[in-house]
Amino acid sequence: MNIELENHKLEKRLCREVGRAIVDHNMIEEGDRVMVCVSGGKDSYGMLDILLKLQARAPVNFELIAVNLDQKQPGFPEHVLPEYLGKLGVKFHIENQDTYSIVKRVIPEGKTLCSLCSRLRRGILYRVAGELGATKIALGHHRDDILQTLLLNMFFGGKLKGMPPKLVSDDGKNVVIRPMAYVPEKDLARWAEVRQFPIIPCTLCGSQENLQRKQVGNLLREWDAKFPGRVENMFNALQNVVPSHLMDRSLFPFETLQATGEASEDGDKAFDEEPCAPTAPTAAPDGNPFLARAVIPITAGG
Ligand code: SF4
Repeated sequence: MNIELENHKLEKRLCREVGRAIVDHNMIEEGDRVMVCVSGGKDSYGMLDILLKLQARAPVNFELIAVNLDQKQPGFPEHVLPEYLGKLGVKFHIENQDTYSIVKRVIPEGKTLCSLCSRLRRGILYRVAGELGATKIALGHHRDDILQTLLLNMFFGGKLKGMPPKLVSDDGKNVVIRPMAYVPEKDLARWAEVRQFPIIPCTLCGSQENLQRKQVGNLLREWDAKFPGRVENMFNALQNVVPSHLMDRSLFPFETLQATGEASEDGDKAFDEEPCAPTAPTAAPDGNPFLARAVIPITAGG
């Protein structure tokens, strides 16, 4: 396919997916002042670019203010963002805060800096949002960030928890939105090339890369290459949660569940789709009578 046509399709797709995420979660409303956090990475450049396109044609009026936090990392090219944003003609604010020195002073050599660094950054951005009168704070996390977080929380946190497209911040004062929630990272990477964003490297702080996140990112990329559709399905699964088939007792009242006495086509077919027949425990380790009785092998279609 011709490159121009391909790029045009990519632009349409990005606008469509961002627009869809905004509408699905009511992210931006009439009169909103959206503080767009721009780090100098491909994702936040892409977010600002697409939000500007949508702003020009949206049925609601809203304002965009690009905000960059200059954390005074050594070698940070501080002219790049003001020049780029100035040319774009978008309102912007650069917040200068030397969190780099604080983090370096407080965290012992060799330990990872990210947790304190991001905590400080978060606090500063919330404060700046208040000072600018922003009604929403937009972050550039995309579909793959959300899936990586889901897997990391499962693998290391023991929680079925991703990254919300919209949330109220922990200080209770800000609504944070992620308009790129539906966008695959590869589309943002390609868009950054098309638009030739002046990318600022994210390794200036000298912190070790988050190895676990990197590994999970590689895993998702491998799956995407080997099994087309798998990553999309995982993402769709986040939007199709069935609490009665999970095990969180705070989400589904297993304890009080009763037979209704009425057949239902949509009802649960308890044994139909088991790939193999599980065998129930043969003993009741804790003397629970329900476990003790469950000694009959259950067969598919049982
Ligand atoms: S990678 Fe560097 S800038 Fe990013 S959160 Fe970690 S310490 Fe901060």
